[in-house]
Amino acid sequence: MAASRALLTLENFIGGKFLPCNSYLNSYDPSTGEVYCRVPDSGKEEIEAAVEAARAAFPGWSSRSPQERSQVLHRLADLLEQSLEELAQAESKDQGKTITLAKTMDIPRSVQNFRFFASSILHHTSECTQMDHLGCLHYTVRAPVGIAGLISPWNLPLYLLTWKIAPAIAAGNTVIAKPSELTSVTTWMMCRLLEKAGVPAGVVNIVFGTGPQVGEALVSHPEVPLISFTGSQPTAERIMQLSAPHCKKLSLELGGKNPALIFEDANLEECIPTTVRSSFANQGEICLCTSRIFVQKSIYNEFLKRFVEATRMWKVGVPSDPSANMGALISKAHLEKVRSYIKRARMEGAQILCGEGVDNLNLPPRNQTGYFMLPTVITDIKDESCCMKEEIFGPVTCVVPFDSEEEVIQRANSVKYGLAATVWSSNVGRVHRVAKRLQAGLVWTNCWLIRELNLPFGGMKSSGVGREGVKDSYEFFTEIKTITVKH
Ligand code: NAD
Repeated sequence: MAASRALLTLENFIGGKFLPCNSYLNSYDPSTGEVYCRVPDSGKEEIEAAVEAARAAFPGWSSRSPQERSQVLHRLADLLEQSLEELAQAESKDQGKTITLAKTMDIPRSVQNFRFFASSILHHTSECTQMDHLGCLHYTVRAPVGIAGLISPWNLPLYLLTWKIAPAIAAGNTVIAKPSELTSVTTWMMCRLLEKAGVPAGVVNIVFGTGPQVGEALVSHPEVPLISFTGSQPTAERIMQLSAPHCKKLSLELGGKNPALIFEDANLEECIPTTVRSSFANQGEICLCTSRIFVQKSIYNEFLKRFVEATRMWKVGVPSDPSANMGALISKAHLEKVRSYIKRARMEGAQILCGEGVDNLNLPPRNQTGYFMLPTVITDIKDESCCMKEEIFGPVTCVVPFDSEEEVIQRANSVKYGLAATVWSSNVGRVHRVAKRLQAGLVWTNCWLIRELNLPFGGMKSSGVGREGVKDSYEFFTEIKTITVKH
């Protein structure tokens, strides 16, 4: 009892109030494996309360002008920015990511999400066409959809949830959002800023808990006409099944098995450090991380040697260490899953060139029970291996050789996913040609993860349905209507 009193205890945020829950889940510090926080284990009852609050808030919020909503979003962005240090510390502790990444990527991007949609909501226009021979004018109007259900994963907790909350409320919807039960702390911290920012009660409701319990209650609720989900493909399948009877509007941002295509004319000075980063940033727990590296045969040996050397320099350390490149994985179960792929690769005869089972981790005694592993490079592996087909979502990457442009395009496209790809070549014609033929929603050439929020983000094939970005998110979070006037 004394121990549980010392734990950080989160509460749901419904109708502008923090509300306790009947039961709680344990949340672990990935860097030690210790329980440090209790997260509400919500269910149908909490979803009913959130729907009621969101329904009541909708008429007032949706009838405000875009300028008024924009001001509220700007204020929230400012308040988040003022709490950057505190939020970054919390995100790093809760997720296991390095403090450096939380400070330079997660929290600044959460701030930017609100600023970005606060600005873009002011600049949309609608369409108008004329049919003079019939004396008609046609035009479109857009309106918010209603109550938006938002569900996000654990890898970029505040970053990905605010990427949904911001466009949803900017467009005049009210929301019920559920972060991952593994990483709920920063969302709860944001709730403390909502009133001060001027977000009216009931516009943003946050319910915490597990997917099967509270996530499904949200997805199944008949008064929530729209679900924006980021997470894994099996969960998306379940969400599609539950939404089908209600014909809900769905946005699904799912996993990837992203290839890097490295041609013999690539600038290896830039390509190698960037590909180490694209493979292992955030412990390889970014949907856009590279996990299949195809290298043209003439430079294969040189690339492999330099890539393994650079990977060994990618420092695994406690998340609070500002010099660490990589922290702890999210959970014990996930660490075991990632390790099981390396074991299978070994059994198939692949070579593990560095990392898991080859090199030693060096951690302080307190962190030896944490969920750490070294960045791992696999080679001599077949394209048919599960390590080359399935999303591992950890610090593991496979390197294989190729001969020709045609061959590597076929092989890169041979998985069920189609989220992101990188192409490395100094031949401009090839860069355009290959980028066009790759089955991926995003292709970076001679770089990685440079994001332009105006343009569509999302995947094809099993990597998702729909896109997010200025135009796409606005279209998703509004309904369009065509009106014809005969004069
Ligand atoms: P997950 O699918 O297990 O969980 C995602 C969210 O869905 C969590 O909040 C979870 O509680 C909830 N959920 C689980 N089961 C549910 C159900 N039956 N009904 C409703 N909600 C449910 O995914 P994860 O393990 O948290 O995240 C990792 C996955 O997310 C990876 O596949 C990764 O590629 C993907 N991802 C994709 C993007 C993208 O933008 N495409 C970004 C980040 C992560």
